[in-house]
Amino acid sequence: MNEKRLPLLPASEYGAFKRAWENYGADPTWRERFSSDPVKCLGDFPEISDVYAAFKAIGMLSRRPFTENAAHQRQGFSPYYDEYMRRYEKVRAYLEERFREERFADKRLFRWNEIALRRARVQHGELRNTPTLLYYPLMFELSEGCSQQCPFCGLAAGRHVGDFLATPEHRQLWREILAASREILGDIAGEAACYFATEPLDNPDYEVLLSEFAAVMGNYPQTTTALAAGEPERIRALMSMMGRERMGLAALRFSARTLPEFRRIMELYSPEELADVEIIPNNPESGSLYSLSGRLYKKNLPPGKRNKGYSISCVAGFRVNMARQAVAFMEPVLPSDESPTGVQIRAERNFAAAGDYRKILREFIDRYAADRLPEDLPLMLAPTVTAREEERYVLFRGHGVSLRMGGNLYFRQAVRQLREKPGTLGELYGRLGIGEVVGADVRQKLQALYEKGYLALV
Ligand code: SF4
Repeated sequence: MNEKRLPLLPASEYGAFKRAWENYGADPTWRERFSSDPVKCLGDFPEISDVYAAFKAIGMLSRRPFTENAAHQRQGFSPYYDEYMRRYEKVRAYLEERFREERFADKRLFRWNEIALRRARVQHGELRNTPTLLYYPLMFELSEGCSQQCPFCGLAAGRHVGDFLATPEHRQLWREILAASREILGDIAGEAACYFATEPLDNPDYEVLLSEFAAVMGNYPQTTTALAAGEPERIRALMSMMGRERMGLAALRFSARTLPEFRRIMELYSPEELADVEIIPNNPESGSLYSLSGRLYKKNLPPGKRNKGYSISCVAGFRVNMARQAVAFMEPVLPSDESPTGVQIRAERNFAAAGDYRKILREFIDRYAADRLPEDLPLMLAPTVTAREEERYVLFRGHGVSLRMGGNLYFRQAVRQLREKPGTLGELYGRLGIGEVVGADVRQKLQALYEKGYLALV
């Protein structure tokens, strides 16, 4: 970023620019009007004081050379682009700070989470261009299923069948579960969102449970809702509950599923009100991508829509469903016949009280948060990774990335074996006819491959 920054824009002016940019991304009619007469189109927003600078900023954000002079595209030239980037960097710095190792009480979970992220980036090149991608080690669901049944739902959320209501008993259990999560996972537990394959506002007591969350964790978690067009007053109350400072850190996002819904959101809320709210244009006409997972697994996309071939899940760790009182350990994987939602669930267990919950968390970390290669879980080359022998090296290729690794004959044979069939370390040693001592070098090499994301556990 430029050292010299332009002065901050008022929220009303930034909100107006942001709205123009959102219209450009989501609404083809608006985009056409903008393309034929941008000055007139941006003139619809009286708060935008420099229409030409706003025009340039939209060009910079959409990476289209709207201006002939390439120097005009540089960062910081437009106050609107500058403000956009300033806000983006603030959120990024906040998340980096919140996800650092010291905030994980169990360092194995931190390291395993990093390995899962590295593996995803080896398997799918687009994820390497997403520096803000984070895998959350904990996520809560406060309902069972989702009322919205969006046709593109990457998690194929089931029908909404119930909620974890804020009865006095449930509030007590919720506080205990939150405290246990914080005790075992550390302060990182405070980043857990309270939705996954659920719509948070399906639960009529969502806000009550959120304020309990804030009381235990000291933080309001991030909320993404598809009900912005249906419940504006409830959402305004949620915004004021979160407060201006938290709202400035990407605490609230709206999913707009159809063009009429997008337009309705634009009508219901002023640009200034949404200056800090991220709008996710999920309508088919928008430029955003759909994941070919969940309900779209092996389906055709709407005409002109592009896809992303990776999971939309961002949980590598625990998903806790409070309505079913069940905790699962899971990680994102490439969507496949075995895992069409792009979520691999390693294990799931019910809990009756915070005591069981604590035990399950510990047991799942011991068993599945493997930062070292486990003895009893089979290894395999990560899906999409290939291995080719080249004299004394093996060349591993992921999606647009590769790694050349030298090793002795046994290492090369072990890789050959893994190409054919997954196996535990013990099975591999058996197939190679070697013991622990000779196998130590093989183990070390496989460990390095695992940490770099080229190996996976079955
Ligand atoms: S995309 Fe979100 S709101 Fe839509 S069905 Fe899936 S979980 Fe529900």
